[in-house]
Order: sequence, then structure tokens, then C-alpha cells
Amino acid sequence: IIRLEQIKKNYYLGKDPVPVLKGIELSILKNEYVALMGPSGSGKSTLMNILGCLDSPTSGRYTLNGKDVSRMADDELAKVRNAEIGFVFQQFNLMPRLTAWENVAMPLIYAGISKNERNDRAHDMLKQVGLEERSHHKPNELSGGQCQRVAIARALINKPSIILADEPTGNLDSKTSIEIMDLFSSIQAAGNTVILVTHEEDIAEHAKRIVRIKDGLVEKDEMN
Ligand code: ATP
Ligand code: MG
Repeated sequence: IIRLEQIKKNYYLGKDPVPVLKGIELSILKNEYVALMGPSGSGKSTLMNILGCLDSPTSGRYTLNGKDVSRMADDELAKVRNAEIGFVFQQFNLMPRLTAWENVAMPLIYAGISKNERNDRAHDMLKQVGLEERSHHKPNELSGGQCQRVAIARALINKPSIILADEPTGNLDSKTSIEIMDLFSSIQAAGNTVILVTHEEDIAEHAKRIVRIKDGLVEKDEMN
């Protein structure tokens, strides 16, 4: 469902282009569980932003579910993003004043879904990530692992086909990290495509495929 062909991305320092991605070739099938690895600054987050339709490549083609999204206008790209992609971040990015339940239901407000349905779906989703009993807690009353579960439930609530997670275990201890990786496994088993970035080999081992990025290119791509 994802196909990247000769993806290049430059950032600009004043007028000078700084190449970050230099011709990425990568195909990811529906329902894969992929870990992206590579040195700091190698372009992993840049690539995730392009995969997640948050940013467009400077050149090259990105086909997502059969649609060429590489040259879409921002508003069109946002539509694709809202329909297809769920994001999870290292710092959870939860709203501190809202409960777990309210955080999870949040994207449904923007989708114009009724309050009853929002409540039901958020409840089901919290149950799926094992946080039913914590639904009325606020982020500061939850552990890091629990916060990340809330963030994952929120990413899943719009039923995206692809979950993208940029260092989702970066703020978690190793035991909690493994629990989160297992949760991603069950999400993948339920039919989602999961792509995540990690720095840690032993965390990446939990994914089924490891893609290594170096100097803006795919250096290695292997099944686990
Ligand atoms: P890390 O492992 O540290 O998160 P990364 O592989 O995710 O690194 P990127 O964040 O993709 O790396 O950054 C790749 C390069 O692009 C870096 O040199 C970074 O400084 C540069 N860069 C990233 N975002 C921007 C931006 N918005 N404007 C200019 N340069 C940027
Ligand atoms: Mg990064």
C-alpha cells in the first residue's frame, strides 16, 4: 500500500538546499510491522513526515493506496492524512487537562461524530489498549506507558489503515517499551500497517521487518 520511488527531500539553509533524503526506495505492504532505524540525523523523522502526509518530498513519487500523493496540495494531503494515518509520538502529546477518555475521543470531535458515539468508541478503544480502569485519569495521573497507550488509542480511533510512531518508546523503560511493542503487534494482527522509528536494536527486534536508513538512503532492509 506504500510505495516510495526515488524520494528526495531537501531542507533549505537560507537559499542553499541541504539534502536529507537522497533517493529512498521502499515498498511496505498492507499489514506489515516495520521498524525504521538509523543514526541521529539520518532522516528518519523526515521520512515519517512524508509517509504520514505531513510533508511532501522535494522529488520522487509516493503512492499510498494506489494514489500518488507526492504532489498533492496541502488541503488534499490533509484529507488523505485524516483518512489513512494515525500518529504516535515520543512525548505522547496528550492534552494535560483532559482525561484519558477525552483525549482519545478528541479526533472524533473534528470528524463531527455525535457525543454518544464518541464516548462509546473511545471507551472501546481504551479497553483495547488495556486502560479501561484509567479512563477518567488525566495524563499526570498516569505512568509513561499508560500515557503512550492513551496516545495509541487516540491514533487508532479514526480507524486509520497505517499507524506511524516516531520513537514511541523513547521515554519508556525497557519493560514498558516491550509492552508497547507487543501492543503494536496486536494492532498489526488486527489488520493495521505499523511503521515505527526506534534507536534500540532490542526494541526493533519486536517488529517483523527492519529498514535501516543511512545518509538519506535505505542501507539495509531485512525480515526478522
Ligand atoms: P533523530 O534520530 O535524531 O530523531 P532523524 O533521523 O529523525 O534523527 P531528521 O529529524 O529527519 O533525522 O533530520 C534529518 C536532518 O534534517 C537533520 O540534519 C536535521 O537537522 C535536518 N532537519 C530536520 N528538520 C528540518 C527542518 N524543518 N528544517 C531544516 N532542517 C531540518
Ligand atoms: Mg527523529
